[in-house]
Parts: sequence; structure tokens; C-alpha cells
Amino acid sequence: MTIRENVLRVREAVAAVTDRPVLLVAATKMNAADRVREAVAAGVDACGENRVQELLEKDALGAYAGAPLHFIGHLQTNKVNKLVGRVDLIQSVDSAELVRLIGRRAAALGLTQDVLLEISIAGEAQKSGAAPEMLGELLALAGETAGIRVRGLMCVPPISEKIGGNQRYFVKMRQLFIDNSEKKYDNVSMDFLSMGMSDDYTEAVAEGANVIRVGSAIFGARDYGRG
Ligand SMILES: *Cc1c(COP(=O)(O)O)cnc(C)c1O
Repeated sequence: MTIRENVLRVREAVAAVTDRPVLLVAATKMNAADRVREAVAAGVDACGENRVQELLEKDALGAYAGAPLHFIGHLQTNKVNKLVGRVDLIQSVDSAELVRLIGRRAAALGLTQDVLLEISIAGEAQKSGAAPEMLGELLALAGETAGIRVRGLMCVPPISEKIGGNQRYFVKMRQLFIDNSEKKYDNVSMDFLSMGMSDDYTEAVAEGANVIRVGSAIFGARDYGRG
């Protein structure tokens, strides 16, 4: 299967579940610039990168070919200044400190950075993501922070052994998304619910995701042994 065929297959699988528009973000980590360009040419809506250094290197090679660029990995505070203003959306903001630092940098550059708040929906302490109970506080903080605009929520549930294993987390996320869409904060518009990866994007879409982040189902399995 080529990258183009894989992208088509993902689109068809999504269309079989919903008529709603769903943003297909290619999770491009560990894939070289030419393969990323192939995915962009095949019509993915955006590229999502996990590491700031890899993003900057591949961007310099023209990997994203003008496609919208998202950051989807764990963001270290010392990398914030390199990232703000370079990406259309930072999907993985999970602390008050990141909200403040991103806002400060964006304001200094005279721009507004769009972000999603990443939620640790399964409550795994070792993983990134803010606890669901922290969400109200983060939204209120974003509301009073210049330079940042929250566009929705994101989650990376645990790797599930069985098909359907993450459904309850998707349901919880949708509820959180709906509950907080009804509250009114400045600088917050709940437009995007980003959940679902190669193994479970159709389930996520069925539960309301309108952004999916798909890597191996587009590019094939990642080779962690290389480089
Ligand atoms: C790698 C990655 C994905 C895509 O994973 P696949 O299982 O290969 O589709 C999605 N989201 C994040 C945050 C990732 O790091």
C-alpha cells in the first residue's frame, strides 16, 4: 500500500462513520521529509510533529509543503520560544506554566497562538496531560492570558489491548468537551476534539472526535531500531 492509498483508506473509513468534517492530521514523527511531502500531496489536512528539533529540521527541508503544522508531542518549557508562531496549533498544552509561557512569547511576537488542552483522561500519572479536574482552572487562566487562544481538547488514551478498549475514555472526553463548550471564557472556543490514532480513529470519530492523529496507518509501522 502506498501512502496515497493509505490516506484514501483512512478517509473512507472516517466517511463510513460520519458525515461531519473530520480533520486528518498525519502524525509524521520518524518519517523523512519526502514521505511527509507524499502524505501532504495525498491530501492530509495537517501534519503533526512530536519533537521540536525534528519539526525544525524537517520544516527547513520543506517537508510540510505548505500544509498546516501542528505540534502533538510533550512540550518542554525550554522549547516554547522555538515553537510559538511556527505552528498553527499546539495540541499538547497541559499545564498552567505552558499557558503562561506560550502566551508571553506569542504576545511578544504580536500574535495569537492557537492551542488545545491535553487531558490525561485515563488518569495515568506518568503520562502527559492535565487531570480533568484541572481543566476549569486552565481555561480560566487562558481566558485572562493575552496571546493564547484555546480551540479545544486533546487526549492520548492508553494503548489498548483490545478493540474498543478506549471507548469509555472517548466518551468521557466528549462529555468534558460538551460541558466546557457551554461555559463562556474569553479566548476559548471549543472547536476541536482531537482523539483517535491508527488503531482506534473510527471509534473516536463515532464518539465525536473531529480531529484524528494518524501515523502508522498512513506511513506503515515506525522503525524504532533506526537512527
Ligand atoms: C505517534 C502519535 C500518534 C499517531 O500514532 P499511530 O498509532 O501511529 O497512528 C498520534 N498522536 C500522538 C500524540 C502521537 O505521538
